[in-house]
Amino acid sequence: MIEVFFTEEQQARKKKYRALVAEHIIPRAREIDEKDRVPKDLLAKLTVEPFHLSALSIPKHLGGLGLCQVDAGIIAEELGYGFPALIPLMEIGQLYSNVLLIAGTEDQQKRFLGQLVAGKIGCYALTDEGPGSDPANMGSVARAEGDGFRLDGHKRLITFADLGDLFAVFANEAPEKGAKGVSAFIVEKGAPGLKLERHVPYLGLLGHRAYDIELDGVYVPRENRIGTQGEGLKIALSVLNRTRISLAWGYVGLARAALEAAVKFARERMIDGRPLAEQQSIRFALAELATQIDAARMLAYRASVMADKQLNHRMETSMAKLASGEALIKSVDLAFRIHAGYGGDKEYPVPVERYLRDAYSWISAQGTPEVQKLVIARELIR
Ligand SMILES: Cc1cc2nc3c(=O)[nH]c(=O)nc-3n(C[C@H](O)[C@H](O)[C@H](O)COP(=O)(O)OP(=O)(O)OC[C@H]3O[C@@H](n4cnc5c(N)ncnc54)[C@H](O)[C@@H]3O)c2cc1C
Repeated sequence: MIEVFFTEEQQARKKKYRALVAEHIIPRAREIDEKDRVPKDLLAKLTVEPFHLSALSIPKHLGGLGLCQVDAGIIAEELGYGFPALIPLMEIGQLYSNVLLIAGTEDQQKRFLGQLVAGKIGCYALTDEGPGSDPANMGSVARAEGDGFRLDGHKRLITFADLGDLFAVFANEAPEKGAKGVSAFIVEKGAPGLKLERHVPYLGLLGHRAYDIELDGVYVPRENRIGTQGEGLKIALSVLNRTRISLAWGYVGLARAALEAAVKFARERMIDGRPLAEQQSIRFALAELATQIDAARMLAYRASVMADKQLNHRMETSMAKLASGEALIKSVDLAFRIHAGYGGDKEYPVPVERYLRDAYSWISAQGTPEVQKLVIARELIR
């Protein structure tokens, strides 16, 4: 029971978002999954009233909610529990905002964050055609031209690029310098040369739509570069170090839903005249999973508190993402196996097959489990 660590305000926030998810999202989850699209009326509720997902981390003086990492995590867990495909909307809001919060000037923050508060959508374009785990060697380039830059390259798996009004884009100004050449830019929707190449038809997290995009000589004025030349990768990694924490909370939310489904089925399924839940093998599996999920949530909580206290939390963040990802995969696997023949039935009232699709589709976002291990090991061994 994580609530024992929460303030009264945080307990109230958890209740509020749980109720909002139950009212606005869960009843529409199946429809969104089937159509792979978030209805416009729901999108408006998610970005502005009553969810405010785009503006959670934006400070109050810029019109946002100014939530701390624990508060954002509480919301992410409830969304993950209800329908994780909508978390990417929250995630890209945080990814995009943090680029500006970490490295933007006051003027850039006002110009580019104010729009999110008003309901516009900011995207985050780091992953390139090359390995996403190795952004130092990205192929996207930025050439100085006149009073700005021309961007060329291809970006992969850019969440909600079709809805994006603003894009935080990373490109290399000095490819010979590798990691030290990457810079961050804000590109506005409609910029000539910014093209949606392909909607990526995904296995799960449907409703969340990812696109490959092309940067075909996109012109960016100098005042849209965030930070200095070559500071981009440092910014990108600092951003991920914050946003991975909410992702960990989101994984815990979906794991909780899968565990609940497994417990319910095990209690109700009669085998040989006895509920399945009376089998010791099943009880042990459920007990181990519940322990693993709670441990992952505690790690996410610790990383959040450390981030909120502005302590170095790189290792703790990666531990939280790694542990919650493992708990998530274990939970959907167990739920699927306990449901046996019902597990794959798309019309079964509990969407166990969607849990499985969503979990596997989600696990690599913002750095694979192997990348988290690399971060942890680097912090341990340095
Ligand atoms: C749902 C979803 C949404 C996404 N949204 C966005 C978005 O909005 N913006 C964006 O920029 N990106 C986005 N991404 C991309 C994501 O960040 C990348 O998929 C991720 O970084 C992994 O990159 P990759 O897919 O190229 O895999 P690769 O980097 O090619 O990795 C392939 C395999 O190699 C392993 N590996 C890599 N390096 C090592 C190593 N040193 N040692 C051992 N193993 C290693 C990996 O763990 C993995 O198993 C999204 C991804 C998903 C799944």
